[in-house]
Amino acid sequence: MPAFDRITESHFLPAFDFAIERQRAEVEAIAANPDPPTFQNTMESLERSGLLLERVHTVFLTLCSAHTNPRLQQIEAQVAPLLAAHRDSIFLDRRLFVRVDDLHRRLSDLNLDPESEWLLKRYHTDFVRAGIGLSGPDADRLRTLNAELAVRYATFSRRLLEEANELSVLVTDRDQLDGLPEDGVNAAAEAARSGGHEGAYLIALTLPTAQPALTYLHDRALRERIHRASTERGARGNDNDTTDLVREIVRLRAERAWLLGYDSHADYQIEDCTARTVANARGMLESVVPAAVANARAEETALQAVVDADGGGFRLEAWDWSYYAERVRRDRYAVDEGELRPYLELERVLSDGVFYAAERLYGLTFQERHDVPVYHPDVRVFEVFDADRTPLGLFLADFYARPSKRGGAWMTSLVAQSRLLGTRPVVINTHNISQPPPGEPTLLTLFELKTVFHEFGHALHGLFSDVRFPRFAGTQVPQDFVEYPSQVNEMWMFWPEVLANYARHYRTGEPMPREMVDRLHAAARFNEGYRTTEYLSASLLDLAWHTLGADDRIADVRAFEAEVLEKAGFSLRTVPPRYRTTYFEHIFSGDHYSAGYYSYIWSEVLDADTVRWFEENGGLERANGDRFRQEVLSRGGTADAMSFFRSLRGRDPEILPLLERRGLRATTG
Ligand SMILES: [Zn+2]
Repeated sequence: MPAFDRITESHFLPAFDFAIERQRAEVEAIAANPDPPTFQNTMESLERSGLLLERVHTVFLTLCSAHTNPRLQQIEAQVAPLLAAHRDSIFLDRRLFVRVDDLHRRLSDLNLDPESEWLLKRYHTDFVRAGIGLSGPDADRLRTLNAELAVRYATFSRRLLEEANELSVLVTDRDQLDGLPEDGVNAAAEAARSGGHEGAYLIALTLPTAQPALTYLHDRALRERIHRASTERGARGNDNDTTDLVREIVRLRAERAWLLGYDSHADYQIEDCTARTVANARGMLESVVPAAVANARAEETALQAVVDADGGGFRLEAWDWSYYAERVRRDRYAVDEGELRPYLELERVLSDGVFYAAERLYGLTFQERHDVPVYHPDVRVFEVFDADRTPLGLFLADFYARPSKRGGAWMTSLVAQSRLLGTRPVVINTHNISQPPPGEPTLLTLFELKTVFHEFGHALHGLFSDVRFPRFAGTQVPQDFVEYPSQVNEMWMFWPEVLANYARHYRTGEPMPREMVDRLHAAARFNEGYRTTEYLSASLLDLAWHTLGADDRIADVRAFEAEVLEKAGFSLRTVPPRYRTTYFEHIFSGDHYSAGYYSYIWSEVLDADTVRWFEENGGLERANGDRFRQEVLSRGGTADAMSFFRSLRGRDPEILPLLERRGLRATTG
């Protein structure tokens, strides 16, 4: 564990300077080595270099995303270009590449084990993709582009966080909150109090377009206010407007792709993923669009019917969708989230649900530790033990929302597992669950329940990592593969034995009534037309921005967005994209997920097919867990990721299980 109790903000700049300098010296020793290159003196030495920098950077990023402040944001902006330049100084070092390239040419004579061979191939690809083939002014230009982009990513994140905080919706009249569950009201009161608005209510914005409060609020005008605040983010013409920033990022990325010999940034990004080509990724998305939109249209009709039956006298709008969807869910399936939540208490969900499933599948046990320093009192630490009681690693959980945390939920590896370095994994799941008032239990929504299982799937991927090289540890797989293990782990939240074990009323201890469970299952596909459509439109938007060429110029961000959505067949006014361009943090706050938002459904094909595999083999059994662990979860990035799926399933993935799950089968036929 990093010594969070002794780390202060003033440490970061000198630590970065020192760690960058140290790696520079380590890499210099490799590049200038007079001995001919060997796997050990080049590849292994590269893997051993930069460990300190990695550690400083990981701690820093963890704080920047989960507990930031103006000073950290300032350092972030300062450090981003230094890191980009440092990475370039390694991957654009010709002396280093000559050594790697020499080994790569002699690959078949080196008698390497499969993981070492893959490491050599990956490094070679990394150098080529980083632009080692460029020289002179082109190489200089590439370095400039990388540095410029790094600054803009940090700026995008900072502006978005400020926008979200500034646009939180302040309500002074308690009556306007009618319909909002008690804990939501309390959270809003608490947020208002800490923001200096004693006696009022502050509704915070979550990252995606659709805001959770809209499901409950009876007051239509307030729903509209919240929806508009959400969709306005980054597009208000103030200091935190992101439209120009987005256009710059897109243009710089396109130029970089062109320099490297690609038609577009998406071509560059996807080449290195399991999808391989933009056409494959786009084709997969487009094959689902007609059925998704048709289902969403049918859902819209059903919602309008409720509005009309009420004598509402208005046309359904985007801010009405969740509210009436919840009504239909209640009427048709008799599932009321307010009625469910007392059965979804966080502590039970964690120990009797998430941990319990991991115990049944993999033999894991968990022990909470209170002696490990953390960066915020809310962070929990669990030591994880393997089936034979040997320590496996540490699992940290940071559940509650706060203004210093960015939106969404994610997993980070604080320490990567590696046999070469003798390190064991430390992973953290970060969430944005509303903090209950003191002394009250934390009751989850269905979405939060799913997210807790999902993020723990990423955690397992990190914890089970059994690789030699840190380059391959845990979740370091192609971005369109990384959501696969986490999505599979969601299957256990409704698995009968798991559900029966955790879903008990927090007050009475009564198990969730059987018929409520049945209704939940029946309702599972409801609203999938909406969910799939909002996701697909965001994914196609991402691809549209990143298939622009270096000479394309977009004058009006909102007009471009509208045109893309219309062309792709998204004609529903009531279903906005899950993220609009100006607050699409996944794709504009870093390179990682750019041109990669398609990955979620791409991975879900593997996920749905794997869920079927578990079902066919008896479900929640140690033998199944061990097999999944061995073939997929332990492998990290040590080989072509699709080969892991194939060795588990014995064939290529099939799309049918996904279509059936989402109720999309009939129309895609
Ligand atoms: Zn995920």
